[in-house]
Amino acid sequence: MIAEERVGPVVLVHGGAGGRAEEADDLAAGCALAAARGAAALRAGAGALEAAIVAVEVLEDDPRYNAGTGAALTEAGGIELDASVMEGTTLRAGGVAALGPFRHPVRAALAVLDDDRHVLMTGAGGEELALAAGLQRSSLADMRTARAIQRLESVTTGRSPRRIEDGLDTVGAVAVDPDGRVAAATSTGGIVGQRPGRVGDTPVVGAGTYADDRGAACSATGTGEAFLRAGTARAVVDACRQGRPVAEAARASLTEVVERFGGTGGLIVVDPTGRLAAVRSTPAMAWAWDDGVDRRAHGW
Ligand code: ASP
Repeated sequence: MIAEERVGPVVLVHGGAGGRAEEADDLAAGCALAAARGAAALRAGAGALEAAIVAVEVLEDDPRYNAGTGAALTEAGGIELDASVMEGTTLRAGGVAALGPFRHPVRAALAVLDDDRHVLMTGAGGEELALAAGLQRSSLADMRTARAIQRLESVTTGRSPRRIEDGLDTVGAVAVDPDGRVAAATSTGGIVGQRPGRVGDTPVVGAGTYADDRGAACSATGTGEAFLRAGTARAVVDACRQGRPVAEAARASLTEVVERFGGTGGLIVVDPTGRLAAVRSTPAMAWAWDDGVDRRAHGW
């Protein structure tokens, strides 16, 4: 666990909880770049929501992560993207589930938030809103990487056991801006070899993503089914709202996911003063934070 006593505006990023500690330092470098871009956006006057989204977009474009290009494939070899965003001042949120090939599903989630009519959109309806917001559809050919195909093959041919770690590397970011506003954003392709139509915690507000200026912002990664049942992101933020320090709140909720819901994973959290924490129950989880002056990154 990391817990930093630092304060002030910051962007904290995760590159997914997973099982390959040897890859995690490499993934942490990508997280550092994403956090730096988010911090630069904050310095340029963006609010917490935009800063978190900018950070997530960097990782959606990086094929090493399970989000956007390089996303995990379903057992049918397809791409079904999940993402959500939430901002803590107005408590507005947006999510897309099982979205087709779009480079930046996190922007599609923002389109749902901006539309302000619904919170969670699936497939065709989500695509329609994304297109109306100016996003362009990509193609399976451009977004399905050789690595994602290889990972699916090794799971479906049983060459490697179907481990949760095969599907992680989901990405997320939380941010606090100079006004003490918090926001969270999370994006994933789901679990390698998942059934077509399966939706995890990532697009679901309260499970994979939550933000409330009176508490904190949280982005989770791990076995989506357990995080869904536990309502993890909301639980973390509520604990902070009740005065629990971020590190304690994060640790308690993740312990509950593991011990009561049989899941595994990790999460990041930041409160409106800029105190932050990252916890994991998996062997590794890449993370990085950047406040424009100071920065840290680690793969664990
Ligand atoms: N939570 C994601 C899901 O279940 C997977 C992940 O975090 O990598 O879809």
